[in-house]
Amino acid sequence: MQSSRRLDPADLDRPMREAIPELARGAAALARLGIATPRQALWYLPFRYDDFSDLRPLAQLIVDEKQSARVVVDAVRIEPGFGRRPQRVIAQLSDAAGGSAEAIWFGRRYVERRLKAGDELIVSGRVTQRGWRAQFTSPEFSPVGHESVHTARVVPVYRLSGSVTQKRLRELLARILESSLPAVEDPLTEAERGGLPGLRDALRAAHFPEEAGDVVPALDRLAFDELLALQLTLTQARRARDELAAPRIHVPGVARDEVVDALPFRLTGDQASAVAAIVADLASERPMRRLLQGDVGSGKTAVAAIALACAVRAGWQAALMAPTEILARQHHDGLAPLLDGLGVRAEFLSGSLTPARKREIHDAIGGGMAEVVIGTHAVISEAVAFPRLGLAIVDEQHRFGVGQRAALQAKGSGREPHLLALTATPIPRTLALTVYGDLSISTIRELPPGRQPIRTEVRDRRALPKIEAFLAAEAAEGRQSFVVVPLVAESDALQAASAKAEAERLKAALPGLQVGLVHGQQRADQRDETMTAFASGEIDVLVATTVIEVGIDVPNASVILIEDAERFGLAQLHQLRGRVGRGVHRSFCILLSDATDPLARERLAVVRDSHDGFDIAEQDLRLRGAGNLLGTRQSGLPPLKVASLFEPRHLALAERARAMADRVVEDDPSLDARPGLARLQADFAPIEAEGDAA
Ligand code: ADP
Ligand code: MG
Repeated sequence: MQSSRRLDPADLDRPMREAIPELARGAAALARLGIATPRQALWYLPFRYDDFSDLRPLAQLIVDEKQSARVVVDAVRIEPGFGRRPQRVIAQLSDAAGGSAEAIWFGRRYVERRLKAGDELIVSGRVTQRGWRAQFTSPEFSPVGHESVHTARVVPVYRLSGSVTQKRLRELLARILESSLPAVEDPLTEAERGGLPGLRDALRAAHFPEEAGDVVPALDRLAFDELLALQLTLTQARRARDELAAPRIHVPGVARDEVVDALPFRLTGDQASAVAAIVADLASERPMRRLLQGDVGSGKTAVAAIALACAVRAGWQAALMAPTEILARQHHDGLAPLLDGLGVRAEFLSGSLTPARKREIHDAIGGGMAEVVIGTHAVISEAVAFPRLGLAIVDEQHRFGVGQRAALQAKGSGREPHLLALTATPIPRTLALTVYGDLSISTIRELPPGRQPIRTEVRDRRALPKIEAFLAAEAAEGRQSFVVVPLVAESDALQAASAKAEAERLKAALPGLQVGLVHGQQRADQRDETMTAFASGEIDVLVATTVIEVGIDVPNASVILIEDAERFGLAQLHQLRGRVGRGVHRSFCILLSDATDPLARERLAVVRDSHDGFDIAEQDLRLRGAGNLLGTRQSGLPPLKVASLFEPRHLALAERARAMADRVVEDDPSLDARPGLARLQADFAPIEAEGDAA
């Protein structure tokens, strides 16, 4: 490896080209991965490792394992490609112990240039059995005596995009590490590290561990830094907030009773406690920060309506913000009559209104005539000024970024409005407290009376004809069905394509039924139109991607079929299931899965057997193994790069980080004496991406 100039600490944050000019074109390749500075390169961590450290004689290679061997190339043969078949390079290998094997590469031009008979190599890769001999398939290789980052060791594997290859990226990162690591300063004292490795050692081992056992401590250390950055930010925000005063909203007992009595039902015990807690919070000058969590259909919106009406009765304006146009409209249409009956005027505000209508509503808000505003993120647009915003409610809070929540709160002209967040994605309490700190939590566990449990079954694809017949039979009874298509990678385009194909298939399989289609690539108004048609019963079967996941209320829908169910998070499956069973009809959820892996079967069985979202969330936590980050996006937790809150070890680190953040911020709120810690916050910001209103 060519050695580079050593950097100074200040170089770590300079543009790559200036900091390490020798990288030359490498800098452009890194830029395509979003790596602009040496520090960003240091924190561009592998997502997994290949352990090729097992160096074996060829005669003792183990089929299907990753391993390495020290070999001599006896012959190289090139088979030209034809048609769609790529060129193949095949090398005959032997070793000192008299063993032999083959290595094969497909369509890799550089391989033939770098290989010739007589070469002594270390090859690393997975081994398969070809006839009676072992074959390395597309192994990495390097000349004996040249230390390599690709062979005979634990090798990092990075996320790629663009044209950078794994090999090239590895080489670039190795060079950057070599010149940059000496400039890295550890922001933690030895006592604060509490047994975790130093930052330099951790970064080195996270990229190029000497042995497999070095990876976990290294990643733990980096996870701790990330969790600490998060906790410092949360602790500072908490302190800043505590200095702001919220309006004291005193809701007289009679006013509250009047609102509650206006509802067409009696509150459940959990709803009543949530209302009591909210009313108490509103009366305090300390801004409320309360999370109201409860399963879909548990009656959170009803509690929100009471809170809105109470705030207005006490003389304040209130806002409710939902992540999508459809949900916002449904909230408005559902709540307006109720609020109207109480003499409270609720306006609907979304980006899709005409400019003239928008201006009208802005004026009504500004003049104080609009007492409740229900809408999308348009509610926090610049043009909207609330003279007396006392309460802000955010529905499906995990769909919004921290920035959007903060903007809504900032609408409070001088006083901080009280904030209530609603979520149907339950977060186990320990986790919520660790992550959000002083957030108060109200939980609704008890469902409103008269709900029927949704019968849930796990089936494989062979059962499809029967399932389709069932959908047809339900339609004949006047019922409707959802068909949720599988999650295809993280690509909206692929997902839309698979939804289209499934809709076509079902149209052919279910002649006479109206089959509709919604997916994330449609225009919002087109999607709205289809949803509205489904809600009004014109469509029998709605094929959808997960855009239907939140909130939408169609009481006549009685079946939800979820395809390739094993690809969804359990909380998400439970949420999707909540789309049915909202009316008086017996409802069904069919989890379609061909997965044979026992863990996948067990996870689906959890959803089949439990109807309690909290129980499901906790079992999900238990079943997710170490390092499995699947589904954090859905969890309502801040997306973390290194740490996993599904990892009990990291949860313990989060608690430690929280205690440390409390201590540090208490003495030094703006971290003036700890620039290293302030630096850490910058490294991990932005902690949350913008909300993805699907
Ligand atoms: P969530 O917002 O938690 O999904 P909602 O507040 O929308 O739940 O309530 C779901 C349905 O149950 C609505 O139709 C609502 O009118 C009804 N509901 C809410 N609370 C009660 C209750 N205490 N008794 C009977 N029905 C209720
Ligand atoms: Mg709801």
